Amino acid sequence: MPERAPQPVDRQLPTDEARDLISLVRDIAQREIAPKAAEEEDAGHFPREVFTLLSESGLLGLPYDAEYGGGDQPYEVYLQVLEELAAARLTVGLGVSVHTLASYALAAYGTKEQQVEHLPAMLGGGLLGAYCLSEPASGSDAASLRTRAVRDGDDWVIAGTKAWITHGGIADFYTVMARTGEEGARGITAFLVPGDTAGLSGALPEKKMGMKGSPTAQVHFDGVRVGDDRRIGDEGQGFAIALAALDSGRLGIAACAIGVAQAALDAAVGYATQRRQFGKPIADFQGLRFMLADMATQIEAGRALYLSAARLRDAGRPFAKQAAMAKLHCTDTAMKVTTDAVQVLGGYGYTADFPVERYMREAKVLQIVEGTNQIQRMVIARHLAGPETR
Ligand SMILES: Cc1cc2nc3c(=O)[nH]c(=O)nc-3n(C[C@H](O)[C@H](O)[C@H](O)COP(=O)(O)OP(=O)(O)OC[C@H]3O[C@@H](n4cnc5c(N)ncnc54)[C@H](O)[C@@H]3O)c2cc1C
Repeated sequence: MPERAPQPVDRQLPTDEARDLISLVRDIAQREIAPKAAEEEDAGHFPREVFTLLSESGLLGLPYDAEYGGGDQPYEVYLQVLEELAAARLTVGLGVSVHTLASYALAAYGTKEQQVEHLPAMLGGGLLGAYCLSEPASGSDAASLRTRAVRDGDDWVIAGTKAWITHGGIADFYTVMARTGEEGARGITAFLVPGDTAGLSGALPEKKMGMKGSPTAQVHFDGVRVGDDRRIGDEGQGFAIALAALDSGRLGIAACAIGVAQAALDAAVGYATQRRQFGKPIADFQGLRFMLADMATQIEAGRALYLSAARLRDAGRPFAKQAAMAKLHCTDTAMKVTTDAVQVLGGYGYTADFPVERYMREAKVLQIVEGTNQIQRMVIARHLAGPETR
């Protein structure tokens, strides 16, 4: 049985422009991203040059307004671009998703003046963003964050520590949620902070299980001073802005998860059609054939789920419940499929000679970021049964 080369995913795309976009992304992924992924992940190298190329190719602001340098693409197209990037290398797919998340607050809640001044550089000017909600003592309970912003004349002075920040220490701009008032969700305000502001510093990156090329670090705010013109939205609106950003961001994580799962399935099919035991390819054994069939079915279901949530968003309809479902289902699928892919490769799957062990380590983080999958279940249940009684 000849090794089966992976077929490109047969995508439903709404326009010729979207089809061209996917071709461009596949080309960049095959030429510039996938060939270096294993080596650079091993070395913990962040491919900043890839993000510069993506920016130059118009791929860092896809779902935003063309008037401000965005790509004017619907989420159903943007997410399929993310899936392709994540299949080539999760550090890149997730990085684009986080950059889009970090740009959301200003794009959706900024004033016209703020958007004109800052968005073109953020969406198409080569800048890279970070989103700062989590802190050492507040993860799932994000509304208990302690980083403070205190008014000083026309300025705000920010002090505190953010934790687990993707692109922490290397980003050009940080969307920061800080406490400006009372305890709880209503006392939080959002700010756009330039990366080179005095008093802002990134700690050493965390030593992670996977995605080692993607820097994740604490970011310290030591008397960071920004003007009131860098406040996004109203005072006290920051937590609502942060959650609205996450509704869309979770769709990005779902798409990245399906990309990693698809890459793992492709590797497993390729191997199973080559490897021979008991005188025939292992892909001939029903035990493995059914496993591959289940993996493919879960991936297809996950893709359909994130696209259905994206199409609701594109139609201007509520989509928060469906985004949480997509994040939950797609990331659990990525964990299951990548684990099964290691099994299909047997002992070789457990070595760094094949990419599936990396995919398995990478899939794990997707069940944790942008709200753990326990938190996604809480969000879904609230839509079904209302808020928990205290
Ligand atoms: C690689 C990486 C990148 C990240 N990037 C960013 C970023 O760019 N910006 C950012 O702001 N944050 C980022 N995060 C942080 C991430 O969002 C948090 O790790 C996540 O929200 C969970 O918070 P925590 O780690 O403090 O866990 P905790 O909140 O302490 O949770 C620990 C465990 O308890 C469970 N749990 C907590 N509360 C409940 C509950 N009510 N019911 C049931 N179970 C519960 C959780 O599901 C989890 O299993 C990143 C994290 C990682 C690992």
